[in-house]
Amino acid sequence: MNRRQLIGDVIGLGPHWLARGNWFADHPARRLPPAADTLAEEPAGMPTAAETPPAPTAISAPAATQASTSAPQLAAFEPVAEAKRPSPTPAMPTKPLLGWAELEKAVANCTGCRLCETRTQTVFGRGNPQARWLIIGEAPGEQEDRQGKPFVGRAGQLLDNMLAAIGLDTERDVYIANVLKCRPPGNRNPSGDEIVACQDYLRQQIEHIRPTLILALGRFAAQTLLDSTDSIARLRGKLHRYQGVPLIVSFHPAYLLRNLPDKAKSWQDLVFARRTFRQLIGE
Ligand code: SF4
Repeated sequence: MNRRQLIGDVIGLGPHWLARGNWFADHPARRLPPAADTLAEEPAGMPTAAETPPAPTAISAPAATQASTSAPQLAAFEPVAEAKRPSPTPAMPTKPLLGWAELEKAVANCTGCRLCETRTQTVFGRGNPQARWLIIGEAPGEQEDRQGKPFVGRAGQLLDNMLAAIGLDTERDVYIANVLKCRPPGNRNPSGDEIVACQDYLRQQIEHIRPTLILALGRFAAQTLLDSTDSIARLRGKLHRYQGVPLIVSFHPAYLLRNLPDKAKSWQDLVFARRTFRQLIGE
């Protein structure tokens, strides 16, 4: 088993399918010009219906796993030329920028919306505030509310494993935060006024971190950050921007725990993100 297969196993993408001899070279998609900046719903290089293996029934997503490790699938993405550390462009009325510790304290004491009445504690973020990757989710869930950290429990473990699979250490290489800093009761969807009340905290976090790339996880985070009502299927596979920072959309790990076959699509997103990041830093 090679290293790629080992990584696939770690994040639950096995078993591993191997391309048939010369299959990719012969595939018609190889001869098509790449689509600009877009991951097709059925990416070039994916098997045709006749050659697509049966749907996985357990922790496996063989077709997309095969595609994710193959050059043709990534041919759909255009190279990106970017400054190494873009300056965020605030897109909303801004409050004065607080220092990191002051900002943390302001969030901890915040009574800016009704969620302060039901939270156990605020959830500011975790990881390295100097990291070049910023992972943004929706809002704290029950475990996060208890522990005061985003992405803990099984979903957090899955996220950590997936990031490790593309060579990222969650303590060193990434910072992880949510759009909302307090848990909506019963994990209901956040309301518009709660998002507005909380958005300046995330803006300030981004101004401090100045990440090279943002990974927005889940429909809610993606739609909120991009001010869009598009489905996650439409938002994935494209390079967006938030406050001037390149942003890529993928699934929330909690969703992946319930929808195992989509782990393979998530892996495609991570490969896209890693490749984009390398282009952004000029590697
Ligand atoms: S969700 Fe945001 S705005 Fe609302 S109380 Fe918590 S920190 Fe304040």
